[in-house]
Amino acid sequence: MSAAVGVVLAERLARYSFGDGHPFGPDRYAAFLREFECRALSKRVQVLEPRSASYEELMSFHTRAYVDFVRERSTSGEGFLDAGDTPAFRGVYEAAAYVVGATLNAVDAIMDGRCRRAFVPIAGLHHAARDHAAGFCVFNDCGVAIELLRSRAGVKRIAYVDIDAHHGDGVFYAFEDDADVIIADVHEDGRYLYPGTGGAHETGKGAAVGTKLNLPLPPGASDTAFAEVWPQVTAHLARFEPEFLLLQCGADSLEGDPITHLRLTAASHGRAAHELAELADRLGHGRVLALGGGGYNRGNLAQAWSAVVENLL
Ligand SMILES: [Zn+2]
Repeated sequence: MSAAVGVVLAERLARYSFGDGHPFGPDRYAAFLREFECRALSKRVQVLEPRSASYEELMSFHTRAYVDFVRERSTSGEGFLDAGDTPAFRGVYEAAAYVVGATLNAVDAIMDGRCRRAFVPIAGLHHAARDHAAGFCVFNDCGVAIELLRSRAGVKRIAYVDIDAHHGDGVFYAFEDDADVIIADVHEDGRYLYPGTGGAHETGKGAAVGTKLNLPLPPGASDTAFAEVWPQVTAHLARFEPEFLLLQCGADSLEGDPITHLRLTAASHGRAAHELAELADRLGHGRVLALGGGGYNRGNLAQAWSAVVENLL
């Protein structure tokens, strides 16, 4: 097995954005790339190409009606894709399908042994549900990756870890009753932040009870609070011996984000990546795919995501 870390890089990923001045603006990609180059990380990783996910691939997670709806709004570029958080724009279908394809190419690179772990900066769109957009997320690349890892790559049990400030509701509720998707989600308490879900009592449904772990943090929580709850995440995952680990490492949980209230530093993100890589190695496969997720302070996302890449190495 290769020791290499793959990173998906392409200017075109920046087209998944809601315009200049929007928190999810096109400059997020360039902000990451500057720090990535500054730390000379491009010399230490394998650069992977993205591609576009096909219509059929999108439907492995999303309903046909929803995929068709996005395609239609993408032509007009008018209106919203949800109740008012996620605006349509011309080409939104293609931009969103490209993000999903970037994640799928990273999955393939890990599964065929070209690299051991990987990172995709503009990805981890965890709010999108099977049948609707939400919170700046059009297509849920995490959900598509989980579905295709199982149907195509024959991976049975997958772990999804989410340290974005927002609860990963699109992934959580899509797999709430699925015992083979092990979820651990550390986020700002839903009483204070969108989407309002992810209470500690939500542990999965039916046969999946106990496979999901929600760890809400109070507003203002720092690295110390994160360090207190994090061991529960690794212990939870280790019990289920997942064959593939996904990490949504949203940088909006860092101090200074304009739309959230947590006060972590990039050290928490680095620690999460490091310990998941160690766990994956102990499980014998080493497979970790980290997805950028949210993060609206450009300096923060550059620091957090670079720390993740360094710790996957
Ligand atoms: Zn977020």
